[in-house]
Amino acid sequence: WDYILYVNDWLGGDSDHESRYLILDILGQGTFGQVVKCQNITTHEIVAVKVVKNKPAYYNQSMMEVTILDMLNKQLDPDDVHHILRMRDHFVHKGHLCLVFELLSSNLYELIKQNSFQGLSTQLVKVFTAQLLDALMVLKDARLIHCDLKPENILLRSLQSPQIKVIDFGSACHERQTVYTYIQSRFYRSPEVLLGCSYNCSIDMWSLGCIAIELFLGLPIFPGTSEYNQVSRIVEMLGDPPNYMIERGKQAANFFEAAGVDDQGRSVFRLKTIEQYSREHNKQEQPGKKYFQYTHLPDIIKNAPLPPSRSSSTRRQEELEKEMHNRMAFIDFCQGLLQLDPLKRWTPQQAKMHPFITGEKFVKPYQQQQLMDQAISVSPPLQGIMPSPASSK
Ligand code: ATP
Ligand code: MG
Ligand code: MG
Repeated sequence: WDYILYVNDWLGGDSDHESRYLILDILGQGTFGQVVKCQNITTHEIVAVKVVKNKPAYYNQSMMEVTILDMLNKQLDPDDVHHILRMRDHFVHKGHLCLVFELLSSNLYELIKQNSFQGLSTQLVKVFTAQLLDALMVLKDARLIHCDLKPENILLRSLQSPQIKVIDFGSACHERQTVYTYIQSRFYRSPEVLLGCSYNCSIDMWSLGCIAIELFLGLPIFPGTSEYNQVSRIVEMLGDPPNYMIERGKQAANFFEAAGVDDQGRSVFRLKTIEQYSREHNKQEQPGKKYFQYTHLPDIIKNAPLPPSRSSSTRRQEELEKEMHNRMAFIDFCQGLLQLDPLKRWTPQQAKMHPFITGEKFVKPYQQQQLMDQAISVSPPLQGIMPSPASSK
């Protein structure tokens, strides 16, 4: 860190007319810089100021954050109802770009931690997930990708109410300008990004699936210790990605190898073993810690510890039945978000109609086709990641 901020220091633009901010507290730190709690001495508003590192790459990337937030705030969510952080101001202080935000409270990682990593109630997971879907719907309509959705980047508005906001648009980009290939925090990184395929807004839906499960369980579902470990955890739980992703992904050959053809003449790929990957990359891969007793997602969710209750035994029985019903809906919901194939993964619009979110009775099998039909009528066709005729046959 190239610049130390102290409580009682001032931040302000280099020109005289700009607002000045008194630093009251240090709030957080990230890759891009420090976040401090400040008071605007003109309006007296208490705000959060992100002071970006004094390096051209960070400056330019953070100007992008300003542009995107400005558009989101003014054009796409003018009434501040879609759970997206508000930006109040920005200025340059001694070469550091400073972004002034509304002051929010703890992030969701801190909330999970405060809860001793026991997980939140199904009801609370639903409330937070619905709000995140709302934000992602706005992003998708504008074809913006957040690219770094994770619990640290989701903040409670206050400690009194279960209201959240999505923050940190410092990695966000437009679907037409997906220039970076090394994006998303590893635990929340989508299969298409891991494999080096082209990507779009659906990478945020993958992250959302990982986050919803983490909120419920209290621990990350795919805590990969390396890229290989991340891919192997996903494959172990959810199976192999479709052939077209392996054939087209620029990184896929690092992780998968050809293993012949099936009886219909289609290529078969398999994940390289840890020994093979280690040998080829000249580094010793570790299998990484296993957090859960079960391998498959439905078993993990079904068997998660039940919340404590002080109800009488008949009441308790009713509660348990309701909880198991909600868990079945939750499993189905998560499977829609954790589709390995981005073309099959649900959009925010589709996910919002799921009984887990709407509260309707969940009846198996879920009418996914109906969701698909609606999606085709609302979203433009995806480009770039469509399977080629050869690989989809
Ligand atoms: P990353 O390493 O995730 O890219 P970053 O450097 O881009 O992080 P932010 O994520 O914007 O920075 O902020 C870092 C941390 O500061 C957040 O996780 C949060 O705890 C805190 N923070 C950010 N904005 C606010 C805010 N508006 N109100 C309160 N705390 C905030
Ligand atoms: Mg962040
Ligand atoms: Mg960031």
